[in-house]
Amino acid sequence: MEIEKRFAQELANSALVRADATGEQLGAAARAINGLGLQKACSRDGLDLMRAIDMNSTLLQGVGWVEGDEIRCSSFGGDRRFPMGKFDFRSSRSSVYRTNVTLLDPKTAYVAVQTGAAVGIIHKDLALSFVDKAPGLGVAVFSWSRRTPIINRGAVPPELIKTKFTGSTVFRSGGRTVAVVRSPRYDTGAIAILPPGEMSSRIGRAALVLLPLALLIGLGLSALLVHVLRSMGSLPAMIRAALKRGEFHLVYQPLIELTSGRTVGVEALLRWDRGKAVAIGPDEFIPAAEESGDISLITARVFDLVAEDARRIRRLAPDMHFAINVSAADLHRPEIVEDVIQLAQRSGMPFSSLTFEVTERRLVDVERARDTVQRLRAEGVQLAIDDFGIGYSSLAYLAQLEIDFVKIDKLFVQALGTESATSQVAVRIIEMAKDLNLEIIGEGVETQQQGEILKSLGVGYAQGYFFGRPMPLEALLQRLRSERVL
Ligand code: C2E
Ligand code: CA
Ligand code: CA
Repeated sequence: MEIEKRFAQELANSALVRADATGEQLGAAARAINGLGLQKACSRDGLDLMRAIDMNSTLLQGVGWVEGDEIRCSSFGGDRRFPMGKFDFRSSRSSVYRTNVTLLDPKTAYVAVQTGAAVGIIHKDLALSFVDKAPGLGVAVFSWSRRTPIINRGAVPPELIKTKFTGSTVFRSGGRTVAVVRSPRYDTGAIAILPPGEMSSRIGRAALVLLPLALLIGLGLSALLVHVLRSMGSLPAMIRAALKRGEFHLVYQPLIELTSGRTVGVEALLRWDRGKAVAIGPDEFIPAAEESGDISLITARVFDLVAEDARRIRRLAPDMHFAINVSAADLHRPEIVEDVIQLAQRSGMPFSSLTFEVTERRLVDVERARDTVQRLRAEGVQLAIDDFGIGYSSLAYLAQLEIDFVKIDKLFVQALGTESATSQVAVRIIEMAKDLNLEIIGEGVETQQQGEILKSLGVGYAQGYFFGRPMPLEALLQRLRSERVL
């Protein structure tokens, strides 16, 4: 019972966090666009600005200028007009909602939120896409004052939204567990509904089942970004241009052995130098490159950069371990074995100093990857599952890939020592990894306490801001020099 309530609350909260972030982007977009005024909005400059706003608003599918019930011009359609139909309701903050608008593609329905003459377009259920992995669950974001759903996923009976609650609450209704949270900032609320008995039976089952649940507690934001970025279209072109211009470099985050406190390895993390342009982090450009099929170009560049930097690092610390993030698609490509051999030759490092991190979220096709993985392992390269706990790997899947390490996702590490349900899940995940004889790395350690709890749970390695942020090569060398003196 207790855990069901917490779970429902976390689910509603996740939905509201997204909704609030969307509200924030809508507000910023509306201020900028309304500032243009009628004359300028649909001019070339106006459209350029709208496109820039669109690009920088990760949660909005597009923005535009409205006249009457029609989009007069927009970031996605230029001068093309789109009739939207009459609005459905007006929020208490005088935004006007249309909850079923089709634009370029007649099959896709959007929510259009209009403030003044500016309109922001939101994908109807993308924001809640993290819910569909658990059948029987319902989640909705609704207008608090109107009690009207704006976006929903799964079954959300309207009468539950209409229940007379005055603030955030959890209650039971006909065996269902219902959690409601109210936005402190916007006229919105989120509701999550768990079907009767569903959770208790799930929790009773093996740890296998806990993993998908854990995903729900966590954020599916990267999936969302992939989708949004795909619809933007131009990011892959920007990435290819950046590769040509050599705009990528690596930063290194120390990996600590918990028993000794020593830096025994580094994880290479990619950075895009965009000068004065808006920063784009790997959480955005990596999924975009994966989607567009350019990830192998990025991985090849990362190998080159590691090869360059590793010589200097190894001069100070010959045993240093290097962890490189690779994508599922990389492991589907047999040529990667050649690339690894070259990397080892150029950097002088033995294969056993190399770990590949594959994230659990972007599933590797085990059949396609098996030969490549076996050859890599035969060379001595180690394999780690990244973001462990928030994906869907079954134990059978892990066994097939012959993993050496799991990296417990920071979502779980950061829950340690708190009262949350997630913290209990974290402990279970660690126990499970130990049962499987896997080495464990806790990532995202931000406090001494988290590090100590990990150590007491028998976790061997840790990474996180507490031990060291991702740092440029020079800073890493400096750190290694001072560690050597100690
Ligand atoms: P990841 O592999 O899970 O990397 C860990 C991310 O967590 C990094 O973000 C790191 O800066 C951040 N982090 C580390 N310690 C802490 C902490 O204590 N607290 C918090 N809140 N965060 C911490 P970053 O560098 O933005 O990378 C994001 C993701 O992008 C990576 O997640 C990885 O999946 C991907 N990525 C980065 N570089 C590459 C690359 O070269 N190739 C590929 N394929 N993916 C990459
Ligand atoms: Ca990683
Ligand atoms: Ca991770």
